[in-house]
Amino acid sequence: MISVETALDKILSSIKPLGVEEKGLLESLGQVLAEDVYSDINVPPKDNSALDGYALRAADIKGAGPQNPRILKVIDYIVAGGNPHKRVEPGTAVRIMTGAPTPEGADCVVGFEDTDETSRPVSDSKIPSEIGVFTEELNGANIRKAGESIKKGDLVLTKGKIIRPSEIGVMASMGRAKVKVIRRPVVAILSTGDELTNLGEPLAEGKIYNSNTYSIAAQVIREGGIPRIVGIALDTEASVVAKINQALDADLLVTTGGVSMGDYDLVKDVLAKQGEIVFWKVRAKPGKPLAFGAIRRVRDDKVVQDLPHLGLAGNTVSCMVNFELFVRPAILKMMGKTNFDKPSIDAVIEDSIKNNDGRRVFARVVVEKKEDRYYAHLTGSQSSGDLTSMSSANGLAVVPEDNPKVSKGDLLKVLMLDWSQDI
Ligand code: AMP
Ligand code: MG
Repeated sequence: MISVETALDKILSSIKPLGVEEKGLLESLGQVLAEDVYSDINVPPKDNSALDGYALRAADIKGAGPQNPRILKVIDYIVAGGNPHKRVEPGTAVRIMTGAPTPEGADCVVGFEDTDETSRPVSDSKIPSEIGVFTEELNGANIRKAGESIKKGDLVLTKGKIIRPSEIGVMASMGRAKVKVIRRPVVAILSTGDELTNLGEPLAEGKIYNSNTYSIAAQVIREGGIPRIVGIALDTEASVVAKINQALDADLLVTTGGVSMGDYDLVKDVLAKQGEIVFWKVRAKPGKPLAFGAIRRVRDDKVVQDLPHLGLAGNTVSCMVNFELFVRPAILKMMGKTNFDKPSIDAVIEDSIKNNDGRRVFARVVVEKKEDRYYAHLTGSQSSGDLTSMSSANGLAVVPEDNPKVSKGDLLKVLMLDWSQDI
């Protein structure tokens, strides 16, 4: 049996980032940039006002104060998106709105609140004929210079960056409508088991609904992959092979069930015949049976490229935990990402946990923050078939394989399944 780290190393060393695709800007959210992004324009394109107020010459208001306003002639009014019509000459000012281009001749902007505008009658052109300014300003004050944020020709975002809302905004500000990114992996999901029933069908005696397909597909979506549901294979070699053959054009195949020591555990055998098994047992609890290998893809009698395959245990919790530990990093690497760690915290454990057989235990816990510390308690049943305990958990507390017993009050690392501000 190999360790969690060795298993992950073996998986990641055979997974490569996928190819490049061009996406509409908004559709690229969460993907990794596959190009260096340069700007064709200055942002902002022109000098513009950072305030609603008056554009003027700093020299004209030198020495101004609350008791000592400087009176200037108002010659123009510019709104955002408008254009200046007149030059600011000595003794004049232009009423200006935030974002509007500053007129020639003006070298600073004074906000409305530092003027006597409210006590001035307004002409037909919606501006007072004169304005009193109560403050001095420095040359350049409250003017956003052209290219202040981004200069034409600048390298703004580098290849490998993950696109977040702020990167979308930055690219939009430069007018970029499309962007090259590493494409998302298509993950084929196949559940095996004679006992499985499709959703929407009546449940016959002795059968259960196929939940793994859906929990895994949801996890795939959450990590940025594209799930392709292949369906259910019966516990026969022919059925498993037929279903796997429907998944050959995916980037990754995830199966659930059929990898333990049971009578009908076929996935391993199929994998051994149709491909190669790298390993099939990991020192983890839950989720010891985990097969990793590759399915041969043959075209015109030639092996083209192997389809990586992760065979997860059938137990509902085991396969979800195995997903977090092994499938998630594989998907992230395919997407070109480089940080595969789950966010984690140290928490004081409020229950005792036994670890009898030297595996690394991932215990389902509820993490809460009390004052400045995190505390974690077990969700109750730790049965690897009880999916409701996964639903009530927000973290997986990690008990090292060489720690036979965790006592109440010990500090454990907890992998956060959900990282929200609420806890
Ligand atoms: P296996 O790994 O095939 O031996 O399955 C272990 C347990 O998980 C058995 O109790 C199965 O009935 C259950 N199981 C397997 N596949 C699924 C599935 N797709 N949905 C829900 N439970 C499953
Ligand atoms: Mg089975």
